[in-house]
Amino acid sequence: MKIGIVGCAGRMGRMLMNAVMDAEGCQLSGGTERPGSSLVGVDVGELLGRGAVQAFVGENPSALFAASDAVIDFTAPAATLSHAALAAEMGKILVIGTTGLSKDDEAKLAEAAQKTTIVYAPNFSVGVNLLMALTEKAAAIMGDDYDIEIVEMHHHHKVDSPSGTALGLGRSAAKGRGVALEEVWRKTRDGIVGARPKGEIGFATLRGGDVVGDHTVMFAADGERVELSHKASSRAVFAKGAVRAALWAKDKGPGLYSMRDVLGL
Ligand code: NAD
Repeated sequence: MKIGIVGCAGRMGRMLMNAVMDAEGCQLSGGTERPGSSLVGVDVGELLGRGAVQAFVGENPSALFAASDAVIDFTAPAATLSHAALAAEMGKILVIGTTGLSKDDEAKLAEAAQKTTIVYAPNFSVGVNLLMALTEKAAAIMGDDYDIEIVEMHHHHKVDSPSGTALGLGRSAAKGRGVALEEVWRKTRDGIVGARPKGEIGFATLRGGDVVGDHTVMFAADGERVELSHKASSRAVFAKGAVRAALWAKDKGPGLYSMRDVLGL
């Protein structure tokens, strides 16, 4: 399978190119960067410190889509939306890991997915997707005597908050309880916020250092507390999961799929 990476010089872009080059049955079809980036024209192998491979960082996504069976996108919301429109137009598989998309943005992804296969996940690690399935089940069993709080920590470069994964965990908990997350979430607390309403799903965000991604879902009741945790120590797990998703998507029809679909969870 020929796989291209948009945003190929980013933290995840580099991991993704390595993962594609190391995966059996995959060939790196190239990468793009933001138009005007100083890295345009650089050999992607040299960018990775692996020696020249005669494939160069481009700035024209249409050319990359044309040369690929699937494209992986871990960039930024505006870029991801234009890549989704391009994937739909050109009938190419798109795997999206970008976080911070709004509800309107997600509606645009669903529209593009009517024409092509899109896998979109706030977190491509196998462990986190298992955590989401366990969170949904625990929330269904524990009911609203248990207060649900989601705590996450990430490195100091991260721009969105709470993390896409924390929101995904919140969505899983809300689904387990049969409610819409947007009706029960409390994304920040500051000052005299009053007693905690029953049924609320709370979030707390920590930022610092080089933390790749820690998430804990707490179920706190009078007398006991259950905590489900995941800690990522290398971004390579997200890249490996995204490549697995691209390979899985090969024989799927148009639609918007998640990593839980890929893993059959
Ligand atoms: P980054 O800033 O290091 O990389 C983003 C790259 O995209 C940059 O190199 C930037 O120049 C490039 N880019 C932006 N617009 C572009 C465009 N129009 N065309 C081509 N390239 C463009 O950020 P990062 O840490 O690699 O994270 C990227 C995204 O992936 C974030 O939204 C982050 O939250 C998300 N992420 C998701 C997962 C997951 O498993 N789903 C895991 C880690 C990070």
